[in-house]
Amino acid sequence: MDTIKFANGKQLPLEMHKVRIVQKLGLPPVERRLEAVNEAGNNTFLLTNRDIFLDMLTDSGVNAMSDNQLAAMMVADDSYAGSATFTRLEDKLREIFGTQFFLPAHQGRACEHILALTFIKPGNVIPMNFHFTTAKAHFTRMGGVVEELVVDEGRKPVSDFPFKGNFDLDKLRALIKKEGAGNIPFIRIESGTNLIGGQPLSLENMLAVSKIARENGIITVIDASLWQDNLFFIKKREEACRNMTTREITRAMADAMDIIYFSARKLGAARGGGMCMRSKELCERMKELVPMFEGFLTYGGMSVREMEAMTVGLEETMDEDVISQGPQFIEYMCNELDRQGVPVILPAGGLGCHLDALRFLPHVPQTQYPAGALGAALFIAGGIRGMERGTISEQREPDGSERLAEMELLRLALPRRVFTLSQVEYAIDRIVWLFRNREIVGGLKFVEEPSVLRFFFGRLAPVDDWQEKLARRFRADFGESL
Ligand SMILES: *Cc1c(COP(=O)(O)O)cnc(C)c1O
Repeated sequence: MDTIKFANGKQLPLEMHKVRIVQKLGLPPVERRLEAVNEAGNNTFLLTNRDIFLDMLTDSGVNAMSDNQLAAMMVADDSYAGSATFTRLEDKLREIFGTQFFLPAHQGRACEHILALTFIKPGNVIPMNFHFTTAKAHFTRMGGVVEELVVDEGRKPVSDFPFKGNFDLDKLRALIKKEGAGNIPFIRIESGTNLIGGQPLSLENMLAVSKIARENGIITVIDASLWQDNLFFIKKREEACRNMTTREITRAMADAMDIIYFSARKLGAARGGGMCMRSKELCERMKELVPMFEGFLTYGGMSVREMEAMTVGLEETMDEDVISQGPQFIEYMCNELDRQGVPVILPAGGLGCHLDALRFLPHVPQTQYPAGALGAALFIAGGIRGMERGTISEQREPDGSERLAEMELLRLALPRRVFTLSQVEYAIDRIVWLFRNREIVGGLKFVEEPSVLRFFFGRLAPVDDWQEKLARRFRADFGESL
């Protein structure tokens, strides 16, 4: 759990595993990187893997599996109904969360789809600490309105507050009073909070939200996709939980919630998802949608191999050595960048390192998408693929006006146990270089803009020739010897 001490005083994260399978990487020259980013419409989602050196787009479905996970995949039972693989997964979820019922789904957003169809009516308000793109898209599609109630600290890029994902409980009480419990189908608790930098909630805050919800007869729904990191932070930062085991903390969280849903592309380090609940009635309300949209009730659109890997992955999530790896590498990356003056979200959260584009590129107006521009620039500078989490990731208002994001972040995900420390050092080096040359970087404009989830397929172009200038500066500084 704690970082290992080095005699030379260095504070380095240490891998508590060895690498046994590798994938070769290539680093194309800067000319190709410039070309590739333009072929991709300056949208890192549209880059192809052969052009990418370090893929820090996401932690979704790309975490390194353990030997035990791979071994379990070989014993999967592929019966369409009544598969032993499903029973093993269901038993593991019962053991960890103490929930009797499990509905499988092919990934996290599929759970959000089912939740939205089951519970949300036009005009309903759904309080949450912070929205997530797919959750918001599903909820608003059904006519729901999302209300974000994260504590003010959560919106500050730099803070020493340990739980920036916490709910502001006063705001939650006030909203329930204003809307009336009848207009609130459920409260959605996201642990940890993806879009503000993978920031955790405390167990204390989750319990308080649950208490308020129960007093008002409102259902609590926790998005536990990033629970692995949140669990680590509770264990490490929450005084009252110091002496609790990871299992005890997990159980305390689960006992306070009515529905637990998750993307197993993150939690469980496989590919899939599902929803757990104690109440048969809640399960019955959602059950029929699983075979309609996902697959039969014993696989829900998942491959049985992935389900076996997930069962083992969930067990490994209870191991402190396993779950500390991600946050320790992220903390190292964030602190090194901070030390060299690069604006990052602090304290370091889970999921990845988040560059604060508003402070990195203060000269790029928000209407020219600074986080998107920073993503394109970093790809040119280092063949590193990040993900824009700013205005491009928002949806336009119903009247077509731009909704400017509160934060403009470039997320550099560190999929769990995938990158080595020297790769992280390379990323730090290229980011610092880019920061020293930040005045060259300009904005972007849309050339193709889909109306829904535009960050996935939208295409943009630089507002002028800043990208050629950046590539020229790179060539001048690093020469041709790539
Ligand atoms: C990734 C993620 C989701 C969506 O999960 P998918 O499996 O990608 O559909 C939902 N919520 C959070 C917090 C996530 O990080």
